[in-house]
Amino acid sequence: MGDLKFITKILHTPFLKEDPHGSLHMPVYENVAFEFKNGEEMELAFQRKKPAHMYSRISNPTVEAFEQRVRAVTDAIGVVALSSGMAAISNVFLAVARQGDNIITTKHLFGNTYSLFMKTLKEWGLETRFTDLTDVKNMEPLADEKTRAVFFETVTNPQLEVVDIKAIADWTKAKNILVVADTTLTPPYTFKSADFGVDIEVLSSTKYISGGATSVGGLIIDNGTFEWGKNPKFAQEARQFGPFTLMNRLRRQVYRNLGACLSPHNAFLQSVGLETLPLRIEASCANALKVAEFLEKHRRVKAVHYPGLKSSRYHQISRRQFGNLVGGLLTFDLASKEECFRFMNSLKLVRRATNLNDNRTLILHPASTIFCEYDDSLKREMNVRETMLRLSVGIEDTSDIIEDIQKALEGI
Ligand code: PLP
Repeated sequence: MGDLKFITKILHTPFLKEDPHGSLHMPVYENVAFEFKNGEEMELAFQRKKPAHMYSRISNPTVEAFEQRVRAVTDAIGVVALSSGMAAISNVFLAVARQGDNIITTKHLFGNTYSLFMKTLKEWGLETRFTDLTDVKNMEPLADEKTRAVFFETVTNPQLEVVDIKAIADWTKAKNILVVADTTLTPPYTFKSADFGVDIEVLSSTKYISGGATSVGGLIIDNGTFEWGKNPKFAQEARQFGPFTLMNRLRRQVYRNLGACLSPHNAFLQSVGLETLPLRIEASCANALKVAEFLEKHRRVKAVHYPGLKSSRYHQISRRQFGNLVGGLLTFDLASKEECFRFMNSLKLVRRATNLNDNRTLILHPASTIFCEYDDSLKREMNVRETMLRLSVGIEDTSDIIEDIQKALEGI
């Protein structure tokens, strides 16, 4: 067989061990412990001299099969599946940084990620330096010998900003700084992170991958491109493990010790979700563009933000990076917060819920929900406006979504 395409690869990734019953789906290994024939075998497994599952917090066949499928389609050297997208992000930074280190990012981030950096990790001594990443030059004055990573979302939630990823990666390579990208809005299939110089991809598989909001999960995808010996924390380890240094650190320490493992049941759901990922992404992106174009023409709508729109300042860069598939998320502004609420409250089909890339179309008002813990001036810096609504466009028939939105807009 030649080089299989994305969806074919997902559907035909072989299991690491043949199923004794010939099951085509990796069954749900809903167990904690794995038995050994004798003490010698058990010792070899614990010493990692013979691969074997021992305990489901550390590894599990169903979780591993999901990881293998993601690895097959990303060509990564290693994939770790975790209990949530937030677990993926926190595991990476707890692994690569230590007290006194710093990272560079932007305030245009998912609200909980900002909180992770500025509240949780700050207390443990990791400094986060913020700048506008749409211009690479802004990073220059912030970097020093303790800068361990640059972090950004490929399409930011909810600002829908798109950075020039290759430009960021070129800048970091010269300085031995790791590039970590949150690809939640543009998961594998829409974006090949290794081609743009991303070292580590983290994402919330809760979103597109889970198959329509069936389960919470996260992924760490290691493209194997970073020279770990350049990070003082790994000076020793890198000599032994080379490109697998981070994977080793996660598996044998950080991921294992923090215990944010994906449950076998959720791994099964996400693995099934992965099988239809390309179909659902195509459908939701096509819908999102049509909805954005509709909103752009509507007299009650003050502004629409969607990188797929020709009028977007990110249109060119986003086409270069993600082709036509820039995700199902868009935002638009009405005249006031009150109008936003009246509009939301009169929707009949679109659901008021906090999630994205569900199969259903969902709406929320970010300023009063995800970002409610931040004061007005910080919200301004985060570009989260009181007049802004976030719409995650699903895979319903486009005309039904637009009709619901149109009627609600007429009512405000
Ligand atoms: N990153 C982004 C861009 C997100 O939008 C989210 C959640 O919405 C997360 C990370 C966190 O994912 P999870 O809810 O799976 O922890």
